Amino acid sequence: MSSTRTASGRASGRNGTWRNWGGNVSARPAREATPASVDELAAAVRGAAEDGLRVKAVGAEHSFTSIAATDGVLIRPHLLTGIRSLDRDAMTVTVEAGTPLRRLNMALAREGLSLTNMGDIMEQTVAGATSTGTHGTGRDSASIAAQIRGLELVTADGSVLTCSERENPEVFAAARIGLGALGVVTAITFAVEPLFLLTAREEPMPFERVLAEFEELWAENEHFEFYWFPHTGNTNTKRNNRSAGPERPAGRFQGWLDDEFLSNGVFHAANWVGRAVPATIPTIARISSRALSARTYTDTPYKVFTSPRRVRFVEMEYAVPRAAVVEALRELRAMVERSPLRISFPVEVRTAPADDIPLSTASGRDTAYIAVHMFRGTPYRAYFTAAERIFTAHEGRPHWGKVHTRDAEYFSRAYPRFGEFTALRDRLDPDRLFLNDYLRRVLGP
Ligand SMILES: Cc1cc2nc3c(=O)[nH]c(=O)nc-3n(C[C@H](O)[C@H](O)[C@H](O)COP(=O)(O)OP(=O)(O)OC[C@H]3O[C@@H](n4cnc5c(N)ncnc54)[C@H](O)[C@@H]3O)c2cc1C
Repeated sequence: MSSTRTASGRASGRNGTWRNWGGNVSARPAREATPASVDELAAAVRGAAEDGLRVKAVGAEHSFTSIAATDGVLIRPHLLTGIRSLDRDAMTVTVEAGTPLRRLNMALAREGLSLTNMGDIMEQTVAGATSTGTHGTGRDSASIAAQIRGLELVTADGSVLTCSERENPEVFAAARIGLGALGVVTAITFAVEPLFLLTAREEPMPFERVLAEFEELWAENEHFEFYWFPHTGNTNTKRNNRSAGPERPAGRFQGWLDDEFLSNGVFHAANWVGRAVPATIPTIARISSRALSARTYTDTPYKVFTSPRRVRFVEMEYAVPRAAVVEALRELRAMVERSPLRISFPVEVRTAPADDIPLSTASGRDTAYIAVHMFRGTPYRAYFTAAERIFTAHEGRPHWGKVHTRDAEYFSRAYPRFGEFTALRDRLDPDRLFLNDYLRRVLGP
């Protein structure tokens, strides 16, 4: 097997081993395919079925769960990229499934257009990001998948199916967040809007104040989020709102200082020290959370929503009902303070409005997200297990692409429309061509 470089820069195919970004999942696919067209992709799917192999399309390998792992045929996205068409009347863009979000955002901005909302980074492919329900934070605007207006996918029999609200609507409803279980997505049509500006206000704030004012902070801002630094009473809040301008990007030096030096350089060094000597972590957390200063800048949406994440970590994130987030955070803080755990990574808190996608973590309910992280290479199970106990007690739904231990029995209770999804899967993939161990656990055999 040849050795190839993937979008995330890691070698793959070396000794036949595939690895994710977080370094916590690996697999040995029987073979890889890098189709350059929908026809080639359909042929790869049919060829796998004929050879008795299962199929898994991957994106940029940024999931922390084994959702993209396979011992069958691994379909790579690199030659299925680019903009297919732009419809200015319908205000939609159709892109090849393997297009990185970075490329989509930059191409749209050049055309004077933008997506409505984004997550924290833009390294993922459009199909990979939407398949697990990747989201940012929003009072009125939901996940990236909620911005989908149409999908094209190759199903288990090798045929090409297109869907939208009008065409195959039951497939459209579910396949926007399809977990790679319904077919291989080959193109996605997103809603776009005229390019706008966002003003970001980043401001350190005491943990107790953020919790006391959470509803106001959420209600008064289009995109509110905050990071709490465990072992401290400190947070950094971020409020993004549309503005009339003018464009005022974070100053070059200030931007570099905050985004590169503090958020990546110093943070990486601090994590190294913390991993070697965990007892230093609370002190490092106090110093680093105080090093942040307030700043305001105005820029193109994707530049405000996303920032580089060079310090590698492993993550768990749960969606809880928004009304439960303050209590869940108090319990999380109490748990950390009672325990011998030393946590060097901030806890991230975001929100999303209820949406209508069956397996969206915000399906049918107003949602808040709580994400816990551990520096790569540091044992994370004790922390994640204790956090997961709190989140599940609040009817939490885990991000499909981030570490969790839930199974199909749990999800059948957590998602009112779970049966709708599995019935569609039975229809589209009766022989389970797209099965892997992860899907067996979360959806059933
Ligand atoms: C540094 C970092 C930051 C992150 N930030 C956020 C964030 O802000 N918000 C958030 O919600 N998540 C975030 N995530 C999680 C990440 O967005 C998701 O795990 C996402 O699914 C990864 O996309 P990917 O392109 O790497 O896909 P992969 O992880 O490679 O694949 C994910 C799933 O998509 C399926 N898939 C990929 N391509 C296709 C296709 N063509 N057809 C059908 N199925 C397909 C795969 O089979 C798999 O099931 C982050 C992860 C990292 C590492």
